[in-house]
Amino acid sequence: MPIQENVALAPLTTFQVGGPARFFLEATTIAEVQAGIEFARAHDLPLFVLGGGSNLVVSDAGWPGLALKMAVGGIEEHCQDGQARFEVGAGEPWDRFVARAVARNCAGVECLSGIPGSVGGTPVQNVGAYGQEVAESVDSVLALDVRDGQLHDLCAEACGFSYRTSIFNTGERGRYVIVRVTYALTPGGAPRIAYADLKKHFAGWRKTPTLADTREAVRRIRALKGMLITPGDEDSRSAGSFFKNPVVGAAEHGELEKRAAARGLQIPSYPALVSQKKVSAAWLVEHSGFGKGYGSGRVGISRKHALAIVNRGDATAVDILALKEHIQQRVEEIWGVRLEPEPVFVGF
Ligand SMILES: Cc1cc2nc3c(=O)[nH]c(=O)nc-3n(C[C@H](O)[C@H](O)[C@H](O)COP(=O)(O)OP(=O)(O)OC[C@H]3O[C@@H](n4cnc5c(N)ncnc54)[C@H](O)[C@@H]3O)c2cc1C
Repeated sequence: MPIQENVALAPLTTFQVGGPARFFLEATTIAEVQAGIEFARAHDLPLFVLGGGSNLVVSDAGWPGLALKMAVGGIEEHCQDGQARFEVGAGEPWDRFVARAVARNCAGVECLSGIPGSVGGTPVQNVGAYGQEVAESVDSVLALDVRDGQLHDLCAEACGFSYRTSIFNTGERGRYVIVRVTYALTPGGAPRIAYADLKKHFAGWRKTPTLADTREAVRRIRALKGMLITPGDEDSRSAGSFFKNPVVGAAEHGELEKRAAARGLQIPSYPALVSQKKVSAAWLVEHSGFGKGYGSGRVGISRKHALAIVNRGDATAVDILALKEHIQQRVEEIWGVRLEPEPVFVGF
């Protein structure tokens, strides 16, 4: 088993910050994943599972234990009861799978086009965008339990999906290494065009948009927002949205409305947000003095999206944390809401 030492993690993340992993293993088979878990246990090392590194802030000191890079690949397709099942290795790039599903004319993940990272990363925070989330299409998750080294086949209900959460990033954080995800998609299904940006994109179209049209539209909209990893675009050197949209109760929403009115503003209320009692974190950030393009140092806010903290080159994890805390503090002072970060902090 080729365990490497002192491997730089920054180039393996989209933020491109952070120090090395003390030990590193790229696991291409389930047996190698098992061997990695055993190595960490035998040497009493903390284990970190690295997917595509697109939702991480790695500390400048790096990771003191074993970083296990998930590289189990493969996509298998089966048709059953009018549904198409795709069994996908956790190390497959997510967007490669979406492209395959769309090419097979299977609906269910088309709005999730262009999200970076691995397939195994998608159940962890129940990845979602443009009116779709993987909770709707995940059929089951095959995962190794680090406690006993056994494989568990978890059905969707057992994954406990909710907004940006699952058991994998809450109650059972650190327990499972996901090795395969099975998605159930609808052959010949219509694309989901529910989100305002997508509706606007297709307004005036004479033909009904296909899944492929929807995928292309989503990727195009994402690129305009710096939310598609594009070589040379420093606004995509980020972890995507840095804060979750806060979920608020009626009383808290009323309070926000009052504070907004006192400033001559109105809290935005898109149907997608209202139905889930969410408030736009991007709006809160932008109306707390952190507009697009904020900051002139090594970190700042994307010029295309107020919710993305970006590495403008040579940023450190400390720089990112400082800006994160500054934003959280100002938003709380002005709006009375504490923003919760979306990325995972590694080695802090
Ligand atoms: C430009 C950009 C745009 C983005 N847009 C979106 C978006 O629209 N919607 C959205 O939801 N997210 C978005 N993200 C965030 C990110 O892409 C997703 O959360 C993605 O699913 C993370 O997957 P990953 O493989 O990169 O995971 P990593 O970043 O490598 O890891 C994230 C967490 O998942 C765990 N993990 C990863 N793989 C496994 C595994 N096999 N088994 C167990 N645990 C694992 C890690 O240990 C870590 O805790 C965006 C990020 C960027 C940079």
